Amino acid sequence: MAQGQAVAARVTVLGVVQGVGFRPFVAWLAREHGVTGSVWNEQGHVVIDVYGAQGAVDAFVRDIEARKPPASDIRRIERRALPAPDAPPAGFSIAESGDAGDGPVMPCPDLAVCDACVAEMHTPGDPRFQNPFISCTHCGPRFSVMRGVPYDRENTAMDRFPMCPLCGRQYRDPSDRRYHAQTVCCNACGPKLFYHSGERVSEGGRALDGAVEALSGGGIVAVKGIGGYHLACSPYDDRAVAALRAAKGREHKPFAVMFPDMASVRAHCAVSDEEEALLKSAPRPIVLLFKGKKVVAPGVCGTSAFLGAFLPYTPLQHLMLRRGGPLVMTSANATAAPLIIEDEAMLRFSREHPEVRGVLFHDREILRRLDDSVAAVDLGRPRVIRRARGYVPSALPVPFCGSLLAYGAQEKNTVCLCRDGYAYLSTEIGDLDSLETECVFERTIEDMQSLLRIAPVVSVCDMHPGYLSAWHAGRAARPCVKAQHHHAHIVSVIAEHALEGPVIGVAFDGTGYGTDGTVWGGEFLVVTGQGFARAGHLKPVKFLGGDESVRQGWKSALCAAFDAGLPPSGDPREAVVRAALQSGVHTILSSSMGRMFDAVSAMLGVCAVSAYDGQCAIELENAAWRAAARGGAAAEPLAYALSEGSAAVLDLAPCFREIDALLRRGADADALAWRFHETVARAIVGVCESIAKRQGVRTVALSGGVFQNRLLLGRVVPLLRVAGFDVYWNERVPSGDGGVSLGQALIGLISLEKGGSA
Ligand code: ZN
Ligand code: FE
Repeated sequence: MAQGQAVAARVTVLGVVQGVGFRPFVAWLAREHGVTGSVWNEQGHVVIDVYGAQGAVDAFVRDIEARKPPASDIRRIERRALPAPDAPPAGFSIAESGDAGDGPVMPCPDLAVCDACVAEMHTPGDPRFQNPFISCTHCGPRFSVMRGVPYDRENTAMDRFPMCPLCGRQYRDPSDRRYHAQTVCCNACGPKLFYHSGERVSEGGRALDGAVEALSGGGIVAVKGIGGYHLACSPYDDRAVAALRAAKGREHKPFAVMFPDMASVRAHCAVSDEEEALLKSAPRPIVLLFKGKKVVAPGVCGTSAFLGAFLPYTPLQHLMLRRGGPLVMTSANATAAPLIIEDEAMLRFSREHPEVRGVLFHDREILRRLDDSVAAVDLGRPRVIRRARGYVPSALPVPFCGSLLAYGAQEKNTVCLCRDGYAYLSTEIGDLDSLETECVFERTIEDMQSLLRIAPVVSVCDMHPGYLSAWHAGRAARPCVKAQHHHAHIVSVIAEHALEGPVIGVAFDGTGYGTDGTVWGGEFLVVTGQGFARAGHLKPVKFLGGDESVRQGWKSALCAAFDAGLPPSGDPREAVVRAALQSGVHTILSSSMGRMFDAVSAMLGVCAVSAYDGQCAIELENAAWRAAARGGAAAEPLAYALSEGSAAVLDLAPCFREIDALLRRGADADALAWRFHETVARAIVGVCESIAKRQGVRTVALSGGVFQNRLLLGRVVPLLRVAGFDVYWNERVPSGDGGVSLGQALIGLISLEKGGSA
């Protein structure tokens, strides 16, 4: 035992420390250091009373941080001296959970099944041989099965499954890797697997056989996952993929493919080291990869430059894919409806959609709806495009301690709760335009407030008078801060990277309510903490109003052409559009960059109507990637104009005139798509330089849905760096509207800090 005087201390560890094997780790570490005492969960954190020689206790506390379990995330360790007892405990024990503290709660996100469990599952004779629910202290569902804190079995969806003697023994054995694993079960206990196919019901191994058979025969099977159901089918069978599209009512949006292992991913996609690490990371997101040699059916993601690939993260998926090969795995829901998590709802869906051959499910309840997350590696750095399963509810640090609730945007809504210097983003709830989604929105807020024990004193919402999220914020009985949409986008980057001082925020998206009542979306904001100035913007263009017009790229194209002074093109629909623009009836003025991408897409004949959100712009990016893949030097930018008054105004009318002229001369549409991307990248640098000259700001933050465009981001960042700017963009939250609530939250916190509330 180490030298020194006998001491006693209470150590509190804050962060993601429950459900990740922290207490067993502490007990094991204590034995190694020859200290005694006990460890327990208290609210969201772990508390340790430790007794021993001074040197041993010090080393023990140091090693908590240095050797913490892989899935844990320590945010803070507090240590205070206790009076040395007359008779210190003889050993080290794990005690019952207490309920006295009030520190921040940090529930663990769902974890992909670990390699040790996968290996065990494939070992004949093991009590968990082919068990679809195998897990240990380091892996398995967490947030999706958690009823409350502390994270103990009786607070999870596993509470209805009593442990068999074997599992009970392992659960209590400090040397076992399932010591205090709350989701432990085996073939003799735990959830059961079922397969419903028409009138036939099978169980256990036969259930799996049934599902695999249906999939191999070209069928669609619904499979219960972690945060909801998937619909699965073979990615090589175009008929099955078409049937899946019919069942979902989703005609065009690319599907993701789950591959059994890395070798299979590599056969189908190009994978960098960073991308491989992201694919294998505990959240197991869908990663957008460039397509490789081996192809899937064109219906999966035909025109896309990328294939959304992911690896199995549940034991059940491993079992299915090992036998059935890669599978299209898409969330089970009709377009725009929330993801299905209840068995009854899934069975009903399958009865209503005969394309769905069967439902593979089990009797462990899903308590929280969590879609698969989507991510990509750009400029060597991972970034999240949809933040859901595996990431939620990880807390992001923020520099102020207030308690508040930010209600997010209207589309791809997320909400964000803050307390004690941490921001908790919800999963992506969806577009708040159906009653069902609105219910999910309300329930998510209630659930997060109670689970995280946050009592907000302030609300933050968007300025848009028509946003449903803003309406809900207005109903809450507390002061409400209104945040401008693009300001919030930029502040989300500031929050993520803890930026200080003013930044030039480039916020490009489809739409957002401006402080002058017009529609913004191509903004250059100089942002200083709470405030911002509109230092530059895209020249507002008159567009046809109405929700439908936003999806109709061809209308945006006619409006942009009219604005650029182009003569009528001969499109038979043009007269009506021009008459509306001339009379100004049902028109809106908008500086939206998103609509410019849509307009160019339609003008080039790439995509005239968005069947899903952002399709026109996404197809334009795909066209540009096609041209870029053909090689050649960097694209030549097209013309644009920049006027430098009190605000820099970027005018793309010259660009539209040039595109029109080049198209008349038979120029290649894909090449023009590539050149348009180059134009926007160069124009961003031009405007930033103009603002920097006047205001001396050299830091640029990029945000807004347009920056999900990987070609644009990959081009503009190096150009800005060459021009001498420090450049930041969203990495941990989406650059689209899913990240807005984080920006709103920081705006609210700053306002709280300053003592103002509205
Ligand atoms: Zn495991
Ligand atoms: Fe936006």
